[in-house]
Amino acid sequence: MFLLFFVFSGGLFSTACFAQTAPAPAWQQAHSATQGPAYSLTPEKLKRAEALNRDENWLWAIGTAWSLVYPLLFLRLHWAAGLRRFAAGIVSRPWVQGLIFLPLLIIAIRLLSLPLSLAGHHLGLAYGLSIERWPAWFWDWTKGLLVSLAISTLVGSLLFAIVRHSRRRWWLWFWLLSLPLMLAGVFAEPLIIDPLFNHFEPLSRSHPELVAQLERVVERSGERIPPNHMFLMRASEKTTEMNAYVTGFGSSKRVVVWDTSLKKSSQDEVLFIFGHELGHYVLGDVVHGLMMAAVGTLLALWLAFHLVRKLVCLYGASWEVPAVEDWSAVVVLMLVFHVFTLLSDPIDNTISRYIEHRADVYGQEVVHSIVPNPQAAAVHSFQTMGEESLDIPDPNPGMVFWTYSHPPISQRAEFARDYDPWKVGGHSRFFSK
Ligand SMILES: [Zn+2]
Repeated sequence: MFLLFFVFSGGLFSTACFAQTAPAPAWQQAHSATQGPAYSLTPEKLKRAEALNRDENWLWAIGTAWSLVYPLLFLRLHWAAGLRRFAAGIVSRPWVQGLIFLPLLIIAIRLLSLPLSLAGHHLGLAYGLSIERWPAWFWDWTKGLLVSLAISTLVGSLLFAIVRHSRRRWWLWFWLLSLPLMLAGVFAEPLIIDPLFNHFEPLSRSHPELVAQLERVVERSGERIPPNHMFLMRASEKTTEMNAYVTGFGSSKRVVVWDTSLKKSSQDEVLFIFGHELGHYVLGDVVHGLMMAAVGTLLALWLAFHLVRKLVCLYGASWEVPAVEDWSAVVVLMLVFHVFTLLSDPIDNTISRYIEHRADVYGQEVVHSIVPNPQAAAVHSFQTMGEESLDIPDPNPGMVFWTYSHPPISQRAEFARDYDPWKVGGHSRFFSK
């Protein structure tokens, strides 16, 4: 389960940028910090953005509290013990019991958490960010549940097989096993999981002239990205928001651009968006993310080993969780991991914001000499993306620290406007000229 938080969270690797086809207003093309904010919303949009921000913050707070409350409910109300008894009443072999216990537990959790998922999609529809109708949304929810059932049952079965065979060192053996599993997960995600939820096609199929321009950017980077590693995602079937991201590992590594980004951006802006993604690609951010996940997993498993043992010792009798290797202890492990996730989010997100800022710098530098005005292209792309996503210009600093994987859009736009390493005496960070 914890492994899945890392492998399928995707937050560290996915990204954002973008713009639209209209030329940037004159005030946005100015580079001076004295000419007003680099990112702003009309009063009407600002009002809607602030309302959305308030609703999203509430949803985040309730969702976070719920992630701690439901494992406690399963333990204190003996639902976990009841599920284990049910599985044990059918078969005696522990690993086969897991094939009953784990899917039932996942289904129960998903169903209990469904109101929060419904509220999230309702917000998207109400504010016009999502255009996915409810039947399609339910089908996606069902597919997500099936994927979660398959992966959680596999990983949970492996984990508890190891716990049963090595009560003192399971955290180490499972960590060693988690490394190839994480690699396999990152490799397979764009090939198997992502196509279940969205349509992808080679970018060259619908935008051959754009691919030719992107290849100029790739050439300046010194990297080699074959055109068959550039994909278009038909996001407009579900959302009005814009995005692009780098995903995969080895031969599955790829740059994906949402079609919404292409529809609303000028070519210069698309080149900047692509340049940002190229930065992730060239600077090895997927590999860095995997290495961080490996270190984080080792620490989390070691801490979980001690904490779960302590909790079972203290509360096992009242929760009807007799031992660490009992299937009901899965829920104790879940509780511990959810606490870890909440506490580690600020660290993960601080690192992610640094990585995203670095990709912004790279994006602006790599399109220099290809795009006439990289600053204007970047600023306008952020303006359009912020308007489409209803990003408020001044988010709460505490929420930024805890939950933002990217710097606030206003900061990104401001940096892009003022970043000019090509002026006399300036130095670019990633290129000699
Ligand atoms: Zn990014």
